[in-house]
Amino acid sequence: MTSYDAVVIGSGPNGLVAANHLAGAGWSVLVLEAQPDLGGAVRSANDVHPDFVHDTFSAFYPLAAASPTLRSFHLEDHGLRWTHAPAVLGHPLPDGQWALLDRDRELTASWFEVQQRGDGEAWLELCRQWDAIGEHLVRGLLTPFPPVRAGLGGLLNLRRAGGLHFVQTLLTPVIDLARNRFKGEAPRALLAGNAGHTDIPLDAPGSGLMALMLSMLGQTVGFPVPEGGAGMLTQALARRLLSLGGEVRCSSPVEHIGISGGRARTVHTTTGQVVTARRAVVATVAAPSLYDDLLSPADVPDRVRRGMRAFQLDPSTVKVDWALSGSVPWQSPPARTPGTLHIADGVADMTVALGQVAAGLVPARPFMLAGQMTTTDPTRSPTGTESMWAYTHVPQQTRGDAGDEGLSGAWDHNDLERFADRMQARFEKLAPGFGSRIIERRILGPAELERRDANLIGGAINGGTSQLHQELVFRPVPGLGRAETGIQGLYLGSASAHPGGGVHGAAGMNAARAALAHTRWRRVTGRRT
Ligand SMILES: Cc1cc2nc3c(=O)[nH]c(=O)nc-3n(C[C@H](O)[C@H](O)[C@H](O)COP(=O)(O)OP(=O)(O)OC[C@H]3O[C@@H](n4cnc5c(N)ncnc54)[C@H](O)[C@@H]3O)c2cc1C
Repeated sequence: MTSYDAVVIGSGPNGLVAANHLAGAGWSVLVLEAQPDLGGAVRSANDVHPDFVHDTFSAFYPLAAASPTLRSFHLEDHGLRWTHAPAVLGHPLPDGQWALLDRDRELTASWFEVQQRGDGEAWLELCRQWDAIGEHLVRGLLTPFPPVRAGLGGLLNLRRAGGLHFVQTLLTPVIDLARNRFKGEAPRALLAGNAGHTDIPLDAPGSGLMALMLSMLGQTVGFPVPEGGAGMLTQALARRLLSLGGEVRCSSPVEHIGISGGRARTVHTTTGQVVTARRAVVATVAAPSLYDDLLSPADVPDRVRRGMRAFQLDPSTVKVDWALSGSVPWQSPPARTPGTLHIADGVADMTVALGQVAAGLVPARPFMLAGQMTTTDPTRSPTGTESMWAYTHVPQQTRGDAGDEGLSGAWDHNDLERFADRMQARFEKLAPGFGSRIIERRILGPAELERRDANLIGGAINGGTSQLHQELVFRPVPGLGRAETGIQGLYLGSASAHPGGGVHGAAGMNAARAALAHTRWRRVTGRRT
């Protein structure tokens, strides 16, 4: 048996952030990771084609670039280099025009203005309002709940942003927000597409805030990617951790957390390791895994058990990776090539697709997020080629196929191939000849995603729905929106905890801070448990 001050379960961004913070405070820290490679949903490899680097899961990192925690780690000193696409984000529209977002807001506005008079100035007005309050909002979301300091800063600046009118804007569903402010389809599609990075319905509160936050971050920090592949970000976190004396042990799936005297004390792996945690266990696993699998039922507090009955996963996912022999042959090329793409024939098309998923149907015309990775980072594949991906959401439980192929939702080989063809057809329409450039295609369905990262239960990518009823103080169960689990010395630090999915490390940081604070408190009060 070995013993550490803290055992962190999971080496995704949240686990590595928690481990770094605890090791930085002088604690001995061991990270136990189930997979043979560290990084969680922030990994890359040349497993689609030997000459191409593909990000296995996540790819673009505005939240990491904006995260006070990740910034404070100075990962550039540990080998991380950020790189940007020529344009941040693009949404090709059926009439051949593009909704484009550039890091230069004046340029973004000028593109909107050309398509619809007045939309350029309306965009700049929205940017000015965000300027007054946006940084406080982002900080507020990425710090423990309640965000006292960021909240105060936000309140002091609220008048400059337009007072309660702007609060109302933030609470307005993205469809209405976009319609109220803009006449053209381009800014509307761009905002709605950014809301579509979560599973918040486009006509529900919360979608407007998400749309604004991602759009505005796109213009302040961009949607950067780590040079060389997503995995370079988690590798840099791991190198920093090792430099602080921390350890990472891969191929070590945790199967049980031992509780005695009401306190988490031991961590047991399927490989027979038993590790003692002297001060804390930080679990960066999905909430259902922690409470249903890793803990004995008798150890789960009643309040948590009751809350978990209503816990809701986010939808499932199908992701396709392509190695392309050339760049995407857009029929109507954009003014500047974007890294991130939203694929839907406008807001109405997107709404229908997301509605079908919510109704349990495989979408007939899937709304896709996609990435042109070599465009963004030329190191990803040989000059002139493109490392490309797209993903879309499908129901966790399928009731039928809104398309005409009768896909079953079993996501076996047949379902996956035919659905990938459906996704690919959307590109073929916008970029005739897309198919002829494919050297290799890989499809990751719900089971393949979960096999590569157990946190992606049934292909859910955000550790639980991002809808308002499971955010803030409701994440993952009604409580304080904090990392505490109701069991002493055990903290939940994954995307299932506040503030949810995305690569920002905030949930891991919240858990590490809570562990340090409790240890200080025990020392002051002289408590031994
Ligand atoms: C396809 C996809 C695309 C995405 N795109 C983006 C994007 O572009 N930008 C963005 O910001 N976010 C994106 N996300 C979301 C983001 O990647 C996640 O929210 C983030 O990685 C969550 O971090 P985490 O540390 O909580 O969990 P994870 O990154 O999932 O890491 C959890 C780790 O815990 C390990 N683990 C689980 N159970 C055990 C166990 N019992 N024992 C030991 N180890 C265990 C897993 O193997 C994994 O390594 C995407 C996610 C997916 C899946």
